[in-house]
Amino acid sequence: MIIDCHTHVNNYHNENVESLQRCMDDLLLAMRRNRVDIALVLTSYKVTAGRPSTRDVVKITAEMPNVFVVAGISYNAFTVDQLPEIRDYIQHGWVRGLKLYPGYEPFYPNDPKCEPIYRLAAETNVPVMLHSGDTFTPKGKLKYSHPLHVDEAAVDFPDVNFVICHLGSPWFRDCMEVVYKNKNVYTDLSGLVLGDFTDRFESYMRKQLQEMLVYGVEPDKVLFGTDWPISSMESYIEFIDELSIPEKDRKKILYQNSAQLFHFPANDDQGGIGALLQKLR
Ligand SMILES: [Zn+2]
Repeated sequence: MIIDCHTHVNNYHNENVESLQRCMDDLLLAMRRNRVDIALVLTSYKVTAGRPSTRDVVKITAEMPNVFVVAGISYNAFTVDQLPEIRDYIQHGWVRGLKLYPGYEPFYPNDPKCEPIYRLAAETNVPVMLHSGDTFTPKGKLKYSHPLHVDEAAVDFPDVNFVICHLGSPWFRDCMEVVYKNKNVYTDLSGLVLGDFTDRFESYMRKQLQEMLVYGVEPDKVLFGTDWPISSMESYIEFIDELSIPEKDRKKILYQNSAQLFHFPANDDQGGIGALLQKLR
């Protein structure tokens, strides 16, 4: 069983915008081809022709048994009156987490403006995913997306689970330390490549991840995510398959940790996935 905790349905090449339905069809196809059972779609911090709103993505996924939403929130545009709608989506089980984009927007994760967002996360027991590390656009500001800044938010909000996205790439060690030190901080593997891994980069990344686990980061704190369609699901599955880690840890990374964090019943015993999908919603 596989849960991809980090996908998007944004159009990253805005010349010809594809419809949301078409993006969703592509996602479902990629999931089927790669035996991904559940995907979380992270909505953007901005809404444009190529970046659908949380409301639109919730609408299209509400009847899907295997696709769920992580609600992107814009730091710049945030006001507390946006929270009741998000709370409602969480209570329906449509939204499973919140996502903030430090670096893409100029703020640190410990910014006081984020407090009501963290309080909602604590109240509804959903994790807050934080963009971390390199930005897809050169307009991003890296000082805000350094993984070390997650530490302060994690300490001040011990009731909130945080996910440092992209292993904090390229600040793997800083990410590793923040995850190691704080029991409420996790990290996802998404977005380490544009497209497919090259052999050399893949072995470099494998080394980083092994080092992290040797250093003392529990395999319980690492989540499988791809950043599809920016990264290919296929090369990610291969990457995980070829990691030299115990099978029980691979299962944790591939689905058990995400099942726990995002509240999916995880059971890979006989009939597990059927039972899982029946139980959802
Ligand atoms: Zn992403």
